[in-house]
Amino acid sequence: MQLFNQAIWNNSESDGYEPLLSEKGLVNVEVGETDLPDNLTRDTLELPKLSEPELARHYTRLSQMNYGIDNGPYPLGSCTMKYNPKFTEDIAAFPATAVHPDRDSESVQGTLEVYLKLQENLGQIGGMDAVTLQPPAGAAGEFTGILIAKAFHESNDESKQRNEVIIPSSAHGTNFASAAMAGYEVVELPADSDGRVDLDALSAAVGDSTAALMLTNPNTLGLFERNIQEIADIVHKAGGLLYYDGANLNALLGRARPGDMGFDIMHYNVHKTFATPHGGGGPGAGPIGVKQELKQFLPTPQVRETDNGYELFEPDQTIGKVHGAMGNWLVLLKAYAYISRLGNEGLRDTSAKAVLNANYLASQLDLEIPFRPFHHEFVASAGEQDAADFAKRMLDYGVHPPTTKWPETVREALMTEPTEAESKKTLEQLATAFNAVSNENFEALEQAPNRTTAWRIDQTSAARNPRLSWQHLDK
Ligand SMILES: *Cc1c(COP(=O)(O)O)cnc(C)c1O
Repeated sequence: MQLFNQAIWNNSESDGYEPLLSEKGLVNVEVGETDLPDNLTRDTLELPKLSEPELARHYTRLSQMNYGIDNGPYPLGSCTMKYNPKFTEDIAAFPATAVHPDRDSESVQGTLEVYLKLQENLGQIGGMDAVTLQPPAGAAGEFTGILIAKAFHESNDESKQRNEVIIPSSAHGTNFASAAMAGYEVVELPADSDGRVDLDALSAAVGDSTAALMLTNPNTLGLFERNIQEIADIVHKAGGLLYYDGANLNALLGRARPGDMGFDIMHYNVHKTFATPHGGGGPGAGPIGVKQELKQFLPTPQVRETDNGYELFEPDQTIGKVHGAMGNWLVLLKAYAYISRLGNEGLRDTSAKAVLNANYLASQLDLEIPFRPFHHEFVASAGEQDAADFAKRMLDYGVHPPTTKWPETVREALMTEPTEAESKKTLEQLATAFNAVSNENFEALEQAPNRTTAWRIDQTSAARNPRLSWQHLDK
């Protein structure tokens, strides 16, 4: 029996929707006379009636019902759920940062300066010549980048013929979706036996119909594509462009640059690499960088510096706008603060620790890790156990599980990325949870989790139709 773990409203079907904590006549704060319309007063709105301590406990309880990066490690492979320092939040919360998107350029010179400097920083980090900050997520960056590839082929009168985008079978689902949304046929590329791009298969796949190859490096198994220059040559010789999915940039920061590897377009997952918490649908940012010859296709507006200060302009052959204003400003500001604070050396240190942490954690695990040498993440196999059950059981040990069942090249995949933010001790605690679960029987796994607020939820409907207020939906 739980005495103090009640919802404000009981929303079980059988009992109807009776208020549980609410008590007639209880008042939290006396509002006194207001000029609110009658239909918005406390009595007519039927808000739950609670005392202040009960209300405070209710919200504290709610905050503890979920697991987040401030509760413990969050080793979701490919997602980079790292700890993001609070100083960037403080900077974003600074009152002067609240600028209306319709303000004229002269009155927001400081904001435009940050935009331009962040673009320059990202360009340097990725080895790209020009950057737009507009796309609000990595997936939106992919879509924008593929539209730019399309505009490039259109400008060469090759758009009709180049109707295919090549994507490795192990790629993130958004790559396939972005290419399809931009109107392309997707050609899936199998991996070779060591988990990397199969050069023969690539040579066979490219041709006059190739618009682009989308790739991440290190790939989703954490493996560096050693043949990247050969890959770039094959695609470029066929007249296609190379798109870099930047979700794994944490492995390379300050050490290698997609632009130097031959990529023409890339996105940066600001909320994975540069300090913005993510999850729950955002907000994030997915700026993209391009090489010189693609600059004129970037979304509008772009910022530039003139003798009279910073101003906005429209690139010659722009693909148009992909987001309101100039992107998610406060997320971008956090990224700028983070990059400025870390500097070159800090960013280099980040990638060293991301790779070291993944390798140290892996060295502590009893599980099989078929593909090596990996960088910032690895994919372990749950073997005979079901990876989804394995993950649910990890919750009972108080840690968030890794990404499961992807990529499919590893049986019952546990895709794990501890990130650079975790300490040696935390990595050892994580390893203890992995190893404990790997030694448990099927029943223990099937019944898990036992210590969470909710048992197994329908992940699709929980994401599509979340219940975010005290109000029930169906009555
Ligand atoms: C996260 C991720 C994406 C998509 O990025 P979002 O910012 O979540 O839209 C694309 N590719 C890979 C490999 C990723 O991990």
